[in-house]
Amino acid sequence: MQLNDKIYIAGHRGMVGGAISRRLQTLGYTNLVTRSSAELDLRSQAAVNEFFATEKPEYVFLAAAKVGGIHANNTYRAEFLYDNLIMEANIIHAAWQNGVKKLMFLGSSCIYPKLAPQPLREDSLLTGPLEPTNEPYAIAKIAGIKLCEAYRDQYGANFISVMPTNLYGIGDNYHPENSHVLPALIRRFHEAKESGASNVTVWGSGTPKREFLFADDLAAACVYLMLHYDEKELVNIGTGEDLTIRELAETVKEVVGFTGELVFDSSKPDGTPRKLMDVSKLHKLGWKHSVELKEGLEQAYADFLQKNQMVTL
Ligand code: GDP
Repeated sequence: MQLNDKIYIAGHRGMVGGAISRRLQTLGYTNLVTRSSAELDLRSQAAVNEFFATEKPEYVFLAAAKVGGIHANNTYRAEFLYDNLIMEANIIHAAWQNGVKKLMFLGSSCIYPKLAPQPLREDSLLTGPLEPTNEPYAIAKIAGIKLCEAYRDQYGANFISVMPTNLYGIGDNYHPENSHVLPALIRRFHEAKESGASNVTVWGSGTPKREFLFADDLAAACVYLMLHYDEKELVNIGTGEDLTIRELAETVKEVVGFTGELVFDSSKPDGTPRKLMDVSKLHKLGWKHSVELKEGLEQAYADFLQKNQMVTL
């Protein structure tokens, strides 16, 4: 991938696509192509075909997806399955038809079976039942992986798949119900601090364990693998370190500066008990994360404050 090659980042308005765009710009890539969802509806096969035929990108980062936390995944099950299936099918097929040199498909750690051995190895895929709360999203992402593999097998396309762990960072979604745990807690602790509330509610039991990767680290890994990895097998992207939701809540509380108590709401689902990535393959390929959780949380909270102020002004 040369600095003037034409690179399409699908989903550049999202946290991940935005981070990939920033990373490419920092490294000196000058020919980036992007479209907002208003400009290009990725669910329309005709629109996607026309876009690829006109723009003829040489490289594609497929970071467009309908995403959300445990509640959103469990509630909008049809949208999470249909939108994600059709977007990835349209893009992968058009990329092949238009001679894209290389495509990277971004999946998720939820593709692995609910009770797969921890840490999650790449070869655990399709070895057992999925976590029910995010099964539609996981099925769509598994289909995307299989599309990349099939286009490689049948047509020789250089399409690769990477599986990020739980992500957070600049430009995250802070919706109170539909977001993931980390941005949800940033908002909730911040609002509790502002209003002088005595406690903050955390969903579930607090015992599930999760791993968190800063989105800019993910973007650096994606560009690194785009440059250095050409194989069919997926690659996990994470830190290889996890903590309980209770420990996460304590850390967010400290970063935000809230001094009250935590209350656990057991009427909300815990989801999968643990989701830690085995990152030995990624490390062997020569990449390791650089932003630790506390530092990433400080940056994410600063970003939240900046955007929050803009909304209230
Ligand atoms: P998951 O990794 O797919 O389960 O996605 P989430 O980030 O939505 O949830 C991770 C864990 O955090 C689950 O055990 C949730 O029950 C827990 N959690 C605690 N408080 C919250 C919250 O306010 N929002 C969300 N989304 N999850 C929460």
